[in-house]
Amino acid sequence: MNVPLLDLKAQFQPIRAEIMAELQTVCDEQGFILGPRVVAFEESMATYIGSRYAIGCASGSDALLLSLMAMGVKAGDEVITVPFTFFATAGAIARLGAKPVFVDIQPDTFTIDPQLIVRAITSRTRAIMPVHLFGQCADMVGINEIATRNKLSVIEDACQAIGAGQQGKRAGVLGDTGCFSFFPTKNLGGFGDGGLITTDDKTLADSMAMLRVHGSQVRYLHEAVGINSRLDALQAAVLTIKLKYLDQWTEGRRKNAERYRQLFAKTKHADRVTLPHTTPGNFHVYNQFTVRVSKRDELRAFLKEKGVGTEVYYPLPMHLQNCYRELGHQKGSFPLSEQAAQEVMSIPIYAELTEAQQVYVVEMIGEFYERC
Ligand SMILES: *Cc1c(COP(=O)(O)O)cnc(C)c1O
Repeated sequence: MNVPLLDLKAQFQPIRAEIMAELQTVCDEQGFILGPRVVAFEESMATYIGSRYAIGCASGSDALLLSLMAMGVKAGDEVITVPFTFFATAGAIARLGAKPVFVDIQPDTFTIDPQLIVRAITSRTRAIMPVHLFGQCADMVGINEIATRNKLSVIEDACQAIGAGQQGKRAGVLGDTGCFSFFPTKNLGGFGDGGLITTDDKTLADSMAMLRVHGSQVRYLHEAVGINSRLDALQAAVLTIKLKYLDQWTEGRRKNAERYRQLFAKTKHADRVTLPHTTPGNFHVYNQFTVRVSKRDELRAFLKEKGVGTEVYYPLPMHLQNCYRELGHQKGSFPLSEQAAQEVMSIPIYAELTEAQQVYVVEMIGEFYERC
């Protein structure tokens, strides 16, 4: 049996006609950059997230960058984040000449440990950038308490967490800004790159809307040195249609997660596989279903042979990346992130996955541990 990690073709087929018709209309209109379709999508997203403002941009990476720029983060400033994340989180900080200050994760949720943040704060700290990794929100109550006490901004890296929630509020309104990505493999994926920032703060919203068009409000007059980072009409057309189906797809992922829990509970080798932990009060959207396993790399090779797609998000924590050599970290600096990088494996969780496919994945994992 073949079980890919993600099957975007299965998602596209049922909505193909609807999307192709819209794409044709945009082509006939020949208006591609920002414009009314982008505005309409931004409004739909603000409604969906529950934020006052939503600003489309070119990628999730730029959503993080624009947030930091609007907050005035500059060379010499420090921003606290985790080493166990996708590159863009720390990359956005470093690109502005600011210093990513890492703190370790909680081993059960893979998200930032609020207790470790306090010790990392200095007179130069400007913001905290928690990552809602794999589709579950970081402990925003703990983080916001520290941020308020220390007058720090909070930027949610919600790129993997569209629709996720905590205490009844959605990711994107749990900090000062929320950053989203429409990279094709995210839960709301475009037909290319795209991103969006949510906020309730009018000053930040105006600033980010200006910074995404070279810092200009009136054409050819520039208030600030911005960047070129716009969402285009073709992406907005696709995303507007797909947003209607997002909750249904999320329910599919959550149902599949529940089914994995039932299937793994029944296996003989349940102790070799640690399933994702969900914190009470959290709504997990499972952008990834990430387990900790023993003999990970051998298991992955075995599953590949059996037709099961897996991936490691992420194999090398940021503090050990060559580009951050100058920060002076070494092996052992963030042991929980390093251990996670050694043990994690994501298995197929997409909404269209069938019960038979899930049974097969769990069976194959069982077969591997049977042999060793
Ligand atoms: C995908 C992702 C990003 C960046 O998104 P792009 O749209 O690819 O630039 C940032 N942070 C995390 C945690 C992500 O998963």
